[in-house]
Amino acid sequence: MSTLRSAVDDLRAQDLRALGDDELASDLDEIERAVRILEAERARRLAEFERRGAQADDGFLSVSAWLVARHRLAPSTAARRVRVARAMASMPRSAEASSAGQLSDAAIGMLASARESHPEAFARTEEALVQAARTLPVSSLWSVIAYWRQAQDMAEAESDEDERFGRRRLHVSPTMGGMVRVDGDLDPEGGQTLLTALRAVMDADAHAHRGLEFRTPAQRRADALGEICRAWMDSSDRPAVLGERPHVMVTLDLEALEGRAGRSELQDVGPVTPETARRLACDARVSRIITDGTSRPLDVGRSTKVIPPALRRAVIVRDGGCRFPGCGRPPSWCDAHHVRHWADGGRTAIDNLVLLCRPHHRAIHRGFRVQMVDGVPIFSRGDAPALPAGDAWQPPELESPPTPARP
Ligand SMILES: [Zn+2]
Ligand SMILES: [Zn+2]
Repeated sequence: MSTLRSAVDDLRAQDLRALGDDELASDLDEIERAVRILEAERARRLAEFERRGAQADDGFLSVSAWLVARHRLAPSTAARRVRVARAMASMPRSAEASSAGQLSDAAIGMLASARESHPEAFARTEEALVQAARTLPVSSLWSVIAYWRQAQDMAEAESDEDERFGRRRLHVSPTMGGMVRVDGDLDPEGGQTLLTALRAVMDADAHAHRGLEFRTPAQRRADALGEICRAWMDSSDRPAVLGERPHVMVTLDLEALEGRAGRSELQDVGPVTPETARRLACDARVSRIITDGTSRPLDVGRSTKVIPPALRRAVIVRDGGCRFPGCGRPPSWCDAHHVRHWADGGRTAIDNLVLLCRPHHRAIHRGFRVQMVDGVPIFSRGDAPALPAGDAWQPPELESPPTPARP
């Protein structure tokens, strides 16, 4: 143990800035191996400790309770360590590979739970499973063990699957910060459906976007989920609830609609800025509600589409997709933007409408400008000169981010 301590002291004394990248990488390899070996030794000692019942010397009823008190571990961590240590004592091949540093923590956990489910079959096939654990990435090992379990007992594999299905859950909740938090676990089938749909939208989006991308992958995934839900709501065969097809509802005062401060809020999420409400109103169904001084509705007008379907078709034929220079996302991902907002007296006519994809529609309501000159939209960045129009403009090459300077 004292050799171990002095080896660790040597490591701690080292000046890392003096190390080359290769040395640093091989240090990480070596440390990973050493940590695995130490973990194997910890498991071996833990099993021996439990075999002797040594926790009772301190009055503890279980080794995991002893670990929780002595090393301040979370109860779940302590229980897992004891479980793995106990299993390892009867998994000779696994213990051997583990004490040679060949198994990751995740692989050991999977082998131990495979043994728990079918101890005898595990004893017969341990060699092959350990070989898989040594060589395969964790996700492939998971598949190997899943098939192995099916081979042992299909009925049990099915009941495992049912149990996983029972654990599916999705929480979607507006937060105090004006965001909506999404959190959950999907069953294999639902999860695969979501992954496939997200990937399809993101791939098509990347294709339409021709290399110009400022969003992070997480942001692109969030946008893709919004597009999928929007497409579902927009398709014409949606069931009506209380006489209406599902839709996103934003309520805004006349003041807010005219771009001044006033009430503008989304149904569940709460206040958004008037400009966001105006963007949503660019291409929406609108119904006018006249209220008295205490906001009690006096009269509710019919809900009408701001842009009638025939006019939208005409705009789609003319624009073909997002007109922002270098974009061209397809019409289904676009809103028709009023160059001069209808709330400011702009006409809902083809020469005052332009197709913009959701990110570019947002940009136009956030400082970029668009003007119609002889039926051609001319874009500019606020007070800067106009951006070159349409397809003539190519996205600039993105520079790769500078490598961070060494401290
Ligand atoms: Zn707009
Ligand atoms: Zn666009």
